[in-house]
Formats: sequence, C-alpha cells, structure tokens
Amino acid sequence: MLDKPIEYLKGIGPQRAEVLKSELKIFTCRDLLTYYPFRYVDRTRFHKIREITADMQQVQLRGVLESMEVVGQKSGKRLSVMFRDSTGMIELVWFKGYNWMAGKLKTGTEYIVFGKPSEFKGRFNIAHPDIDAVSDEFLAQQSAFQAVYNSGEKLKYRGLDSEGIRKAIKNLVAQLQQLQVEESLSEEVMQEHRLISKFQALKQIHFPENAEQLQRAEYRIKFEELFYIQLRLLKLNKVRAHTVQGYVFSRVGQQFNTFFNTFLPYQLTNAQKRVLKEIRLDMGSGRQMNRLLQGDVGSGKTLVALMSMLLALDNGFQACIMAPTEILAQQHFETFKTFLNGMNVEIALLTGSSKTKERKIIHNNLLSGDLKILIGTHALIEDKVQFKNLGLVVIDEQHRFGVAQRARLREKNTLPPHMLIMTATPIPRTLAMTLYGDLDVSVIDELPPGRKPIKTVHYTEAQRLRVFGFLKEQIALGRQIYIVYPLIQESEKLDYQNLQQGYDNLLHEFPQSQYQVSIVHGKLTPEQKDFEMQRFVRNETQIMVATTVIEVGVNVPNASVMVIESAERFGLSQLHQLRGRVGRGAEQSFCILLTGYKLGADSRLRMETMVRTSDGFEISEVDLKLRGPGDIEGTQQSGVMDLKLADLAKDGQILQLARQAAQSVLDEDMNFELEKNKVFERQLLMQQKTRPNWSKVG
Ligand code: ADP
Ligand code: MG
Repeated sequence: MLDKPIEYLKGIGPQRAEVLKSELKIFTCRDLLTYYPFRYVDRTRFHKIREITADMQQVQLRGVLESMEVVGQKSGKRLSVMFRDSTGMIELVWFKGYNWMAGKLKTGTEYIVFGKPSEFKGRFNIAHPDIDAVSDEFLAQQSAFQAVYNSGEKLKYRGLDSEGIRKAIKNLVAQLQQLQVEESLSEEVMQEHRLISKFQALKQIHFPENAEQLQRAEYRIKFEELFYIQLRLLKLNKVRAHTVQGYVFSRVGQQFNTFFNTFLPYQLTNAQKRVLKEIRLDMGSGRQMNRLLQGDVGSGKTLVALMSMLLALDNGFQACIMAPTEILAQQHFETFKTFLNGMNVEIALLTGSSKTKERKIIHNNLLSGDLKILIGTHALIEDKVQFKNLGLVVIDEQHRFGVAQRARLREKNTLPPHMLIMTATPIPRTLAMTLYGDLDVSVIDELPPGRKPIKTVHYTEAQRLRVFGFLKEQIALGRQIYIVYPLIQESEKLDYQNLQQGYDNLLHEFPQSQYQVSIVHGKLTPEQKDFEMQRFVRNETQIMVATTVIEVGVNVPNASVMVIESAERFGLSQLHQLRGRVGRGAEQSFCILLTGYKLGADSRLRMETMVRTSDGFEISEVDLKLRGPGDIEGTQQSGVMDLKLADLAKDGQILQLARQAAQSVLDEDMNFELEKNKVFERQLLMQQKTRPNWSKVG
C-alpha cells in the first residue's frame, strides 16, 4: 500500500500527482505520509472581527457573506468580498483565481473564514483566506491541533493548498491498517526509550488527538531520524576499526624526544598534552586513526600537529600537512622551519605556485624517503605526489576540504595513513556528532597562558573618525592593525570597489609620509600576496588592508587590532575566525566591528553575540540557530539535510539519546545477526537505496 504511486490514491489522479512530484518530490503514498506539517493551528477557536489586531498570525471567523465584486484594473484586479459577523465587517480579497472563487461563493450564506489579517489604510483585510460553508460535517472535523502544510502556487492551483494536502493525507490514513506501516525500530529500543509505534506516530503527527499525543509523535519521529544517522556513522566507525588496519607507531623516539626536551619553546598546555596522548595511543593501536582535532583559534593546534608528525618520523614514516590556502601553507612552513631549526629533519613546501624544478626535486625526495615532512595546499593531492612511506596526514581547517579530498589522501600508501583533521571552526556538539560522527574527537579546550581576552566593540559609521583616532594611538604604541573588507563572490566587482575606496580613504587618513599600508586581495598573484604578507609579518607595514583571504590561520602576534568593515555582512563563524587573528601576543587586543546604522534583527544579534562572548562554541550555537544547519559548510553530504522533523539546533538532547541507543545496539550486535535487530539492517538498506548520497560519506 505505502509503496503505491501517489496517483492511485483516492482524490489525487494524474494531474495532482504531477505537481506533487515536481513540487514536493512526493512519488509514493509513503512520501506523502512523511510530508509532515510545519505547524498546527487551533481550529476550534473563533474570533470576532472586532478583536482583530495587527500582530495576529491568523484568525478564524464565522459570519455571513454580504457582498462581492471584481474591482480594480490590470494587475490590481481582484475579487473583493465583504464579510460580516455580529461585531463588524472585514474585507476578503483574492488577487488570483478570483473568477473561480466568485463562482463558488454565494452572498447571504454563512461561512467560516481562516487566514492572516493585514492592515491597509487603518482597516483590516484578509487576502486569500481559506473559506468553507458552515456545515455540521465541517464543524465536526475542526481540531485544536489542525495541521498546516507548506504548499505553493502550482500546488494551490491544483487544489493542493494546506487544506487540500491535509485531505489527501486524511484519505490515506483512513485506509491504512496498523500492519501496513512497517515498524522501523526494534521493540527493545522502543521500550527502552518509551517510544510510540511508527503507525501511531504517523497518525498523530498529522491528526493529533491532543498536545501530549502530538509531542510523543514528534519525539518518536525525531528520534528515529537521528538514530539512523548515528547508527550509520557509528557502524562505519566500527567496521573501520575491525577491518581497516593501520600502521603501528609503537615508539616515541629520538625526534620526538629531542624536540620535546631541547627545542620546545614553552610548556605544553594540559589540553595539548592530553590530546597528544590521545593521538599517540590511537596511532599505536594497530587500527587506522581518523581523528578530528577541534580547538578554538589560537589554541595551539599547529604544535600538536607537528609533534604528531615527529612520532610518524620516529617510526620510519613520512608525514604531510595540507592547508586550505597558500598563505597558510606558507606560514605553516615557516613555523615548522623555526620549530625544527637545529634538528635534522628534511621538510619542504609544495603549493600551486611551486616551480616545476622545485616540484621535481620534491617528487624525487619524497619517493626516495629523504624528504620527511611535506607541507602544502591541495597540490598534495595530485597523483604525481607519491610518498615512499606516508604514515600520517594532517588536514588543517577541515571544513574547506571535501570528503572526497580526504579520501584521496587516504590512498597514498598501501594501508591508509593515519588522519588528523584539525578545525578551528567550533561546531556545535550536535552538529559535530552528525557531521563527524564517524571520527574520534579530541578537543583543545584551553588557550596557552598569558592571553588577554580581546576587547570587542561595535561602532557605526558615525564613529569612524573616533576609530581612526584610536588606530593612530595604537600604531604610536608600536602595534599593527588589520582592516578587513567583505568579499562575497557574487558581487566580487562591487566588493573590490569598496575595498579600493576604503583603501584610498585610508591613505588619506594615514598618509604615506607617516604610515605604511599593505593591501591583500584576491586579484593579486600569489607572489604579490606573499610579498605584502611578508612585509606585514616583518612589521614593515603597520596596517594590513585585506579581504577575507586572511581569515584562516595567519599568525602575526604583534597585530593587536582587528577592524572589520561592513561587519553585518559577515557570518558569525567568520567574524569569530577574523577576531582570532589578534590576541596572539602579550598586548591587549581589540576587535572593532563597524556597521551601518540600521541593522536587521539577525545582524544585531550577531554583533551582540560577538561583543558578549569569545567562546567559539557558544558562538557556533548561536550561528546554528540563526542559519540552520543547511548553510553550514559540510552539511550537504552528511545526511543532516535529510532530517525532516529533527532540528539540530534544538534537539540536541534527543540526538544524545539516539546516539546512545545506536551505540548500544552496535556494541551488542554490530552485524545485526540477532533476530530482534534485523529491522535495522532492512532500514539501512532501504535508506541507502533512496538516499544514494549517503554512500559517499566517510
Ligand atoms: P591554532 O590552534 O589557531 O592553529 P596556533 O597553532 O597557530 O593556533 O597557535 C597560536 C599561537 O600560540 C602560536 O603563536 C603558537 O606558537 C602559540 N602556542 C602554541 N602552544 C603554546 C603553548 N603551549 N604555550 C604558549 N604558546 C603556545
Ligand atoms: Mg591554525
């Protein structure tokens, strides 16, 4: 029954089926059944016309149709209906399908009207309301929790407005028997978590009897959605642990020890120590490591990467680190050179702009094994880059690399090398569990000592002169300054103009006779960028004007002021990343957010959040709430987008429980051999068929 094509459902037919397919991807009865309402309204309650206020989302009125006429010209042409109850009169209007509507309605008849009131010239009207003639049958089916479904113009045209969809689902549910809805969780999991049956949940989600039933139905459906994502990821992880052998790094040897005892310039933080130990144990276990290293900007991930790589060397392996931009790869190279200065370790840098001659040398030395550590950009992925014995791959700033790129690095040795994936974009725990559920996670939750919290302020254009004055003071104190402009691809030209104009204004304020200003943007060649960057790093320029190319990873401890122009155009996680460029030295650092005077509610919240906190995780939670998971990088391929009801921003607790449930199923019976667990196998198979993108993950 459920797999029947949708056109065979009573009341649907070929034409409606067509729009259901094209507009909502509903092909079968099952698809229709899992087209969930987006909200509920109380249809047992009636309002009086006199009670209507401007902020009401919807009203339900009962009254008599006094008069109607088609009025207006051309695009303003509409059906205007005067509708009266005992307290007053209101206008109902239809701009579309008004001829059909006019034919359907009768003056002098009693109707029930439902819609959103709006105010026009001091009077209320309702555009395109639902309207039904009063009848016992109609009144009997009114519910306190009437489902509302998303619809659209094309659907409405075929009579599939919210009400039409509801009726179709009602027909379907009426025909369904308990047995036809296959249970998709095991008895055990359902009992343990006190979940109602799938059949009950589906019935109640569309036609709830009361608030409690609705809540239980939502809970059951969300739980199931999250459960299967977790089951899939955790199983992947287990399978890998059982079948994917890894190289065993059994010893801590000379390179590591020499570095630790002689060259390490400071004490490791406790968090760095803990994380290093986790990595060491993992790489010594005989299974291949797949580990996510999360740590806020400035928490010292690079050092952890470096020391992990020395462990690889100590066990006779090579290691590489891949960064998302040239500048960052360059900087890692410099950092590694400085750290390893005095030690006998061969390292090299490989990027898109490496010369052919250099490349050849690098390729040869990699193959011979003389080159131990390779640092670079995605140029590392190329097939020509072959290692003698690659044992560890570090990927910095993971979210910029796709899953596919991860996979290609995996193939660079007979057994897959260990993987350490570092991200400075804190992601909410809920999202991390879903995006990286197949990875083990280490967290550096502590900053190196002696850092002063960055002072963040929000100013508008009007205060620009004050800001310039402040910048001059800071420069006089010997500090350096970043000024960042937004660069958003779609309007690259415009942004570039803004940048140039800002730069010119700046030169006016900071004349070249007294100040040195660098500028870095996407139109420069890598050499030019590098030249400017290096001037800034060497403190030859005091101001770095840049687009967001500096967003990731750059480290200039003497730069203590970050000015972000048009800050309202940046997302929260970007703002946080940018702010992380300062506060790296001993001096008090500042972040100045400059925006226009008028801000939307979202922008305001972003600025307030930045001023209030510098906790990356807290910021990422707000970001997730503002943007939803769909806009956060990496979510597209993860199965997160298949969630229909569960919301990662709100359902963290259900996620936690669903993950535990999945874990305990797998702990007992990872291959679903027990009869009671067969249901999971069937469901996973079915989901794989209907959601082919899942197979690419991992
Ligand atoms: P991120 O985690 O953002 O990549 P980095 O690795 O760039 O951070 O480290 C930021 C700065 O902190 C660097 O200048 C680094 O040398 C320094 N640092 C790292 N670990 C420590 C430590 N244990 N004590 C003091 N400074 C440290
Ligand atoms: Mg870094």
